[in-house]
Amino acid sequence: MSGRSHSTAARKRIEERLAELRQLSNVSRAARETVTLDQTSVGRLSRMDAMQRKAMADAEEARRRAEILRLEEALKLLDEGEYGWCAACGEAIAPARLEADPAATLCIRCAESAQGN
Ligand SMILES: [Zn+2]
Repeated sequence: MSGRSHSTAARKRIEERLAELRQLSNVSRAARETVTLDQTSVGRLSRMDAMQRKAMADAEEARRRAEILRLEEALKLLDEGEYGWCAACGEAIAPARLEADPAATLCIRCAESAQGN
């Protein structure tokens, strides 16, 4: 049952990362709402500054959402027993790679060739 313990560890890693991202997302949502409330009481310059900060927070949030989706997809693969296999060539993805990015769906070779290296 070594494969089983491997996927248990992966699930734990994915769920921890998901919890972390969701928490960051909540904190960021609160911060972005504060920015909106402040806009009535501040001058033009700091308003522009606030809008810039909001744009950056929105971009960060979009990145987080994308990662959450990838991690949820990885959990689905785990449920189906398909986790840890390269979606392109079908080879096993290196454990070190999955540790660095639990949502990786390509082995390092396919990931690099997808980037055009
Ligand atoms: Zn591959």
